Amino acid sequence: MDRLQSHIHLQPERLHAWILDFLKHTTRWRSEIAFSVEGRPIYTLHAGNESERIVIWSQMHGNEATGTYALTDLLLTLEEDANLLNNLLNRYSLVVVPMLNPDGAARFSRYNAIGSDLNREGLRALSPEAALLKSLLGKNAAWAFNLHDQRTLFSVGSTSVPATLSLLAPSTITQRGEQARLNAIKLISNTLETFEVNDRKYIARFSDEYYPQAMGEWCTDRGISTVLVECGGHYHDPHRTIARQMCFHFLKNALQHLSDPVATSSIAYFSLPINGQNLRDVLLRNAKLRTPAGTVCADLSFTAIYYPAEKMWKWQLEEVGDLQLKFGYIEIDLSDADPVEHYQWKPLTLYTLEDIPKTWHPWFTTT
Ligand SMILES: [Zn+2]
Repeated sequence: MDRLQSHIHLQPERLHAWILDFLKHTTRWRSEIAFSVEGRPIYTLHAGNESERIVIWSQMHGNEATGTYALTDLLLTLEEDANLLNNLLNRYSLVVVPMLNPDGAARFSRYNAIGSDLNREGLRALSPEAALLKSLLGKNAAWAFNLHDQRTLFSVGSTSVPATLSLLAPSTITQRGEQARLNAIKLISNTLETFEVNDRKYIARFSDEYYPQAMGEWCTDRGISTVLVECGGHYHDPHRTIARQMCFHFLKNALQHLSDPVATSSIAYFSLPINGQNLRDVLLRNAKLRTPAGTVCADLSFTAIYYPAEKMWKWQLEEVGDLQLKFGYIEIDLSDADPVEHYQWKPLTLYTLEDIPKTWHPWFTTT
């Protein structure tokens, strides 16, 4: 069976065709179908009969597909590695929801079809998607893995290194939540040890501010050990294939550990730097801006944004000014370049490649 090919915009139909193909090839998994606000199918895959569950879901935010790709890789691996699956199923049953929010995915939006952020329906499930997830978690879930994408601006601490993966054991306000969180911290710590040193430097810790309405906090407060995984940017990787690999590696090794737990004293989780926000997709330093007062030298930062209707990337100018404390995935010094007209470069304006000077084109690439 083929792997699902990475593209930043994963149409639900493409995922669903892959799942149907997978179901034809497997004897270990069975599926259930629920429906989104707009009637799109939401597939839940089940394996095993144990009462305690591991529930893994992705794409509650429709435009965050990287975790879904990692889940399809995980399903293929569990299909090939019968030992791992058997060991897991001796202890737990597995419940996997790849793409909880197909309506959002169809329109490449964070929100579902009524415009709600499903990750703020933890306390009160308004939408059928959130109600489905809460019903799956309500049936004796011991572990929850909540897969997201984060913006490319996130860095490992205040460095120039991209946070290609950020991990979190969500905060809690309950006593049983504290024990559940401790278990999640231990699991993350153990799993971190399985990464190569060179990969581990791209891993950060997501902010542990307590959001009472977030699904991860809802889980943890109820005593479900919960891990939030945020897939992020990497160099020359607009479709996030590196984050996909790292997310897959994390999930596979976390499950490996759950299938055969060994006592650990590692608290590597706490050595992860907290996410910083220091990165920009393109950072042009020392651009000469022609103004009525003469030439002004300033730095310009841009974010690449994908527009699914036009199937193209546009570039949003984020900041103009002194950006010496920021870093770029691509950084260019324009000290020796010709001046440009300042009025053409306004923050929060979207630019297509046609609007950008030809000599700058090599840096505005999405490959
Ligand atoms: Zn998200």
